Amino acid sequence: MSNKPLLLILSAPSGTGKTTLARRLVAANPGAIFSVSYTTRPPRGDEKDGADYRFVSETTFQKLIADGAFVEWAHVHGHHYGTPRTVIEEAEKRGALAIFDIDVQGGETIKRAHPEAVRALILPPSLAELERRLRARSTDDDATIRRRLHAARIEIRLARAAGYEYWVVNDDLESAYADLEAIVRAEYCRAGRRPLAPDLGLP
Ligand code: ADP
Ligand code: 5GP
Repeated sequence: MSNKPLLLILSAPSGTGKTTLARRLVAANPGAIFSVSYTTRPPRGDEKDGADYRFVSETTFQKLIADGAFVEWAHVHGHHYGTPRTVIEEAEKRGALAIFDIDVQGGETIKRAHPEAVRALILPPSLAELERRLRARSTDDDATIRRRLHAARIEIRLARAAGYEYWVVNDDLESAYADLEAIVRAEYCRAGRRPLAPDLGLP
């Protein structure tokens, strides 16, 4: 019997630090899969095709939808984003930890299809600090930042309504990362997750 996969969904208002935390979690867990989404938005900063996103045209994205390539897809901030179905298939095959950096609507869709998935909402310590981080990242203009701050309040309310299992406040990065590691560790101890010796008589 092999490990059951751990599908870990991380959602957060843009600029909260979710990508920073997700990347670190992947690097610290050998065999972990980072779900690289398809998107129609152009690359930002030094983002790399295939590593951060798969950057595709609207036509290609529509074809992928028609081919059933996505486990979920959504329209976010004027662009399309989709999670490849192959990520879940690979996680299932290998019993791996798979990390999804997606929004709340995407998290809900995956949770409906895979009720064992675990969703964590990463929160900024305050809206003022979120604004400071977005400005420090210097990848968005003023109008985009104002739109992202407005969207942040909606995203947080949606996540609460959707029943996200965990809330992690990313004030101090080290402490937020330790919280995420604790979540992963606790989830591996969830009843039935790990294979046990057959003579223990437990499934
Ligand atoms: P997201 O993926 O949620 O949009 P990023 O991981 O790109 O966010 O982080 C946004 C910015 O905030 C980056 O410049 C990152 O280095 C910074 N950042 C992340 N976590 C913290 C933290 N705990 N304290 C201060 N700055 C942080
Ligand atoms: P950004 O443009 O800042 O990288 O991402 C914008 C938002 O889209 C973030 O909340 C991010 O988590 C979300 N997102 C990224 N990929 C996907 C995806 O495949 N599906 C869904 N539903 N949301 C995604």
